[in-house]
Amino acid sequence: MVQTLWQRRGIGERGPRSFGISEARSRLAPDGPAAGSSDDADMTHASDRPARVLIAGAGIAGVEAALALRAFAGEAAKVTLLDPGRRFRVPGTATGRALGWGVGIDLPLVDVAARAGVRLALGRLERVDAARRLVAVSAARTLPYDALIVAVGARAEPSVAGAIPFRGHDDAVALRAGIDDFEAAAAQAGGRARLAVVVPAGCSWPLAAYELALMAQDRLSAELSDVEVTVVTAEDTPLAVLGPEASAAVERTLGRVGVAVRTGAVVRGLNAGRLELVGGGSVEADRVVALPIHRGPGLEGLPADAHGFIRTAGDGSVLGAPGVWAVGDGTTFPVKQGSIACAQADAVAAGIARELGVEVDEPPFEPVLQAVMAGGGEAMLLRADLRGGRSESSGAATPAARGQWPVPKVTGRFLAPFLLGWPVGALGAATPLAPLLAV
Ligand SMILES: Cc1cc2nc3c(=O)[nH]c(=O)nc-3n(C[C@H](O)[C@H](O)[C@H](O)COP(=O)(O)OP(=O)(O)OC[C@H]3O[C@@H](n4cnc5c(N)ncnc54)[C@H](O)[C@@H]3O)c2cc1C
Repeated sequence: MVQTLWQRRGIGERGPRSFGISEARSRLAPDGPAAGSSDDADMTHASDRPARVLIAGAGIAGVEAALALRAFAGEAAKVTLLDPGRRFRVPGTATGRALGWGVGIDLPLVDVAARAGVRLALGRLERVDAARRLVAVSAARTLPYDALIVAVGARAEPSVAGAIPFRGHDDAVALRAGIDDFEAAAAQAGGRARLAVVVPAGCSWPLAAYELALMAQDRLSAELSDVEVTVVTAEDTPLAVLGPEASAAVERTLGRVGVAVRTGAVVRGLNAGRLELVGGGSVEADRVVALPIHRGPGLEGLPADAHGFIRTAGDGSVLGAPGVWAVGDGTTFPVKQGSIACAQADAVAAGIARELGVEVDEPPFEPVLQAVMAGGGEAMLLRADLRGGRSESSGAATPAARGQWPVPKVTGRFLAPFLLGWPVGALGAATPLAPLLAV
């Protein structure tokens, strides 16, 4: 018989505790208990103790899962975040950071863990031994767990040789420098600038390309007389994943601002200022920015598809690996996006809390995609319900978005309020991007 986590901890005689979600949420104040930040997580075992929940990956999904577990499971779970990096970053805020219109969310991970009330271990998950409930971590360490949530994201691989890659915050400074150079060179050469932004097949989050194109168009056309910005995308329509209404809204914005789109275009290579397309045809460009192709993490010990994405069941549990769940971009779920990653994290946290004997009133995972697209003089809220194919979009940011940028980029049910509770100024509230959001 499969034991629940609660039975594994040897506290079955206690019976389930029950606390409602509102009571649980009250423990999620931004000033929650301080974390024991540690390089060497002490996860020693006791027979009657909170369950050790290890979350590998402290990105969007990992931190949302940690916050949700604090809310749902309270003291029944001892939560540790494991990540090789020292920063918590929201990739969706990297475009504004790159083109100088706003700040990105980029916080010390140690502070994030402390305010979330969880522990932090620095290291990279390298292998999972699900049978022994152990993970191997970089520097030859092992960590035991009762429940493991794998939230390590996807790997980004450059897609067009010779283009400026844009994978997120790590490329923001180089992209800004590349656009600065481009603008200066174009000004000297008579004011003509042709920029292409490429969305390759296999790119999981094309919205960044449209934001970059809109921001670049705005910026270049302020200084240069003859600017052509083109999005060259493998998609059938711009942001097709969001459905026809959202696509049409994005197309209208691109048209109004003067950004061209070439759809169904798979790039074969870049040669002497020409993007050559599979099946013939080309797009001329003096400078090219390319989004990456995303691949799964391919972690040893976990089942994966041909591209390394972790195979999960509908409840987020990893197939064939008892006690292991996976959420976010690193899984086989076909849509990789912040609100999806957070909804998966919430559902998995609720499932683990239930296994710990806590009653949680939380609906199952619902794949609703919600995103904010900034650029072109406005911020557009886009939404698509992936269950029934229903899609909606609205062309305005909510007034709340105006003063609190860039937090509206984050749609996590626990993460968004958590970030809004961050000390004033640390997130760059009232940044230069704020006026852009006026409707
Ligand atoms: C440029 C860009 C713009 C985007 N814009 C938007 C947007 O506007 N709206 C939106 O909703 N979505 C957007 N997305 C998608 C969104 O950012 C992702 O869906 C989301 O970040 C997925 O969260 P995650 O936690 O799965 O992965 P990530 O956020 O990538 O986090 C993964 C974490 O795991 C850590 N890690 C990696 N390997 C290991 C390991 N072996 N062991 C331990 N830790 C590890 C990493 O250091 C990182 O902290 C964008 C993505 C990109 C790249």
